[in-house]
Amino acid sequence: MADDCIFCKIVAGEMPSEIDQEDEHTIAFMDINPWTRGHALVIPRNHSANLYEIPDEDLAHVAQAAKRLAERMRERLGCDGINLLNSTGQAAWQTVFHFHMHVIPRYEDDPLKLPGSPQQVEQEQLAEVAAELR
Ligand code: AMP
Ligand code: ZN
Repeated sequence: MADDCIFCKIVAGEMPSEIDQEDEHTIAFMDINPWTRGHALVIPRNHSANLYEIPDEDLAHVAQAAKRLAERMRERLGCDGINLLNSTGQAAWQTVFHFHMHVIPRYEDDPLKLPGSPQQVEQEQLAEVAAELR
């Protein structure tokens, strides 16, 4: 458990939360400030700060739990879609530094908007960045 990590405190039962689902490796609980009805967070029980640090096994467990929860949301909440979101680093809006996957049920009439706007770029720019990544 990391000192002063609120999500570790949730795992330890030292901080109240509305838990939806849990298993040996993960817990899913309601986001305290939901973007839509049913917005939840899936976290590994073990502390990792972000995507760079989380072991592959924990990431796989979180992904599986998120899928299970998404299916439950479709069945029980009647949502029309799901967004999965992870923020890694302050530049990416991360505010709690215990890895978490947002599982956000989406409804045809919900008010959410895409946070970015797609840009028009030249083919060479795509090729250049792809080369950097290969
Ligand atoms: P992020 O900005 O991706 O790091 O997301 C952190 C999320 O944690 C935000 O959506 C917060 O609303 C949520 N959050 C913070 N504290 C709590 C808490 N005690 N219980 C449930 N959700 C929380
Ligand atoms: Zn933690």
